[in-house]
Amino acid sequence: MNKPSTKNYDVIVVGGGAAGMLAAGAAAAGGKKVLLLEKNPELGKKLLITGKGRCNITNAGDLKNFIACYGSGGKFLYRALTVFSNQQTVELFNRLGVETKVERGGRIFPVSDMAETVVGALKKYLAEGKVEILVNMPVRKILAAQGAVTGVAAGNSEYYAKKVIIGTGGLSYPGTGSTGDGYRFAELAGHGVVEPRPSLVPLVSKDNFVRELQGLSLRNVEALLYAGNVKVVSEFGEMLFTHFGLSGPIILTLSSFVPKLLKEGKNVRVSINLKPALTNEQLNDRLIREFKDNARKTYSNILKNLLPMSLVNVFVVRSGIGPDKKGAEISKVERGRIVGLLGDFSVSVSGTRPIAEAIVTGGGVALDEINPRTMESLKVKGLFFCGEVIDIDGLTGGYNLQAAFSTGYLAGVS
Ligand SMILES: Cc1cc2nc3c(=O)[nH]c(=O)nc-3n(C[C@H](O)[C@H](O)[C@H](O)COP(=O)(O)OP(=O)(O)OC[C@H]3O[C@@H](n4cnc5c(N)ncnc54)[C@H](O)[C@@H]3O)c2cc1C
Repeated sequence: MNKPSTKNYDVIVVGGGAAGMLAAGAAAAGGKKVLLLEKNPELGKKLLITGKGRCNITNAGDLKNFIACYGSGGKFLYRALTVFSNQQTVELFNRLGVETKVERGGRIFPVSDMAETVVGALKKYLAEGKVEILVNMPVRKILAAQGAVTGVAAGNSEYYAKKVIIGTGGLSYPGTGSTGDGYRFAELAGHGVVEPRPSLVPLVSKDNFVRELQGLSLRNVEALLYAGNVKVVSEFGEMLFTHFGLSGPIILTLSSFVPKLLKEGKNVRVSINLKPALTNEQLNDRLIREFKDNARKTYSNILKNLLPMSLVNVFVVRSGIGPDKKGAEISKVERGRIVGLLGDFSVSVSGTRPIAEAIVTGGGVALDEINPRTMESLKVKGLFFCGEVIDIDGLTGGYNLQAAFSTGYLAGVS
C-alpha cells in the first residue's frame, strides 16, 4: 500500500472516505492513473460507524424525494444524482459482492448489517482500478500555478497531477479524520466557505424536567419543531431524552433547521405529541373511560396506563393536578389540560450539541463556485470537490452517503 510507483498521476484524490473512494474508483475505471491519499492508517473510518455500524448506504426514494431532502442544496445535486443514482449505488455494491435490503423509510442497508462489508467493497473497487493508495499521508497543501492545479504536497513529498479531487469531509466526528482540512484548501484556492454548522445533531434544552427524563426513549410519537408560534417541520418516529436535552432519529431530522432559527433570535421549541394516533376527541373519550373505570385510583397511578413509567412524575407536575387526586375527582377542565399536554408536551430548545457531535456538517465550500455538472472548481482549473466538504447536507435515511457517492462519482468521471 505505502510505496508510490511514481510522483506523476492523471488524478489525485485527497481523502479516503465515501466520496473520495468513489471518486478514485470511478476515475480509475475510466482508465486514469489514480493516487488516493488518506491521512488515517485505514480508509473509510467514518463509514465504519455509519448507521450504528450497519451503514445506511442510500435510500430507495425517487429523484424528486432525494432533491427535497437536501433543502436548498438539492438543485445543485440534480446532475450528480442523475449521473450516479441510488439505483446505481445499489448496483455497484451488488456487483462488488454486497447484497442490500430496504428497511423502514426506504433506508437501504447491506444484508450483512455490517459497515465493514461496504468498506471492503469500496476497497475492492479501488483494487479493480489499480488505484495507488497512500495511508498515514495527510495532504498539507494543494499545488497550483497560473490558475490551474499541479498536484499536492503530502508528508515530505509532492505528487503531481492536472486533476486533484478534494474529498476531505466536514468537521463532524473529527476522530474519524474529518477535521476541516478541505475548507482550508478551498479558501487558499480562493473559494468562499459557508460557515460550517452542526446538522443532524442532538438538541440542548435548559428545561429542568428534561434532566429527570434522561434515558427515556419514546416510540411512535410525533415531534413538531416550532419557531415562536409557527410550525417549521414535524417528524414521526423515535426519540430520546438525554442529560442535556433531546436526541434520537426524529430529533436529528428536526435539528438541521435549529441553528438558523436560533441565530435569527427565534423562540425554538419541540412539541411532542405523545398520542399522535388519537384526535383530541378520541383522547378525551379515552380519559373519560380511564377515570370512570379507575374512579378510586389516584391520578398518578391512572397515568401509568397511558404513559411510560418514567414520564409519569414529570407529567403530573406539568399538568398541575395533584398526584393523589382520585379518578372520579378529575374535573372536565383538568381533563382538558391533560389532553392538551398529551398532544403538546413542549420542550424549549436553547442550542445544539457541538459540530463534533453532529452526524453531518452543514456549510462548506460554496455551491456557486463549483460546476454542478462536473464538480470542478470555477476558480482553479483541475480542482474538484466531492462529499461533505461541499455546502451540502441532507436528512437522515441514507441521503448523506448518497450525496457523497454521487458527487464523488461525478468528480471521478469528470
Ligand atoms: C455517527 C455517524 C453515522 C452516520 N450514519 C450515516 C448513515 O447511516 N447514512 C448516511 O447516509 N450518512 C451517515 N452519516 C454521514 C456520512 O457518514 C457522511 O456524510 C459521509 O461519510 C461523508 O463522506 P465524505 O467522504 O465526504 O467524508 P468522510 O467520510 O469524513 O471522509 C473524509 C476522509 O478524508 C480524510 N482526510 C481529511 N483531511 C485529509 C487530509 N488533509 N489528507 C488526507 N486525508 C484527509 C479523512 O481522514 C477521511 O477519511 C453518518 C455520520 C456519522 C458521524
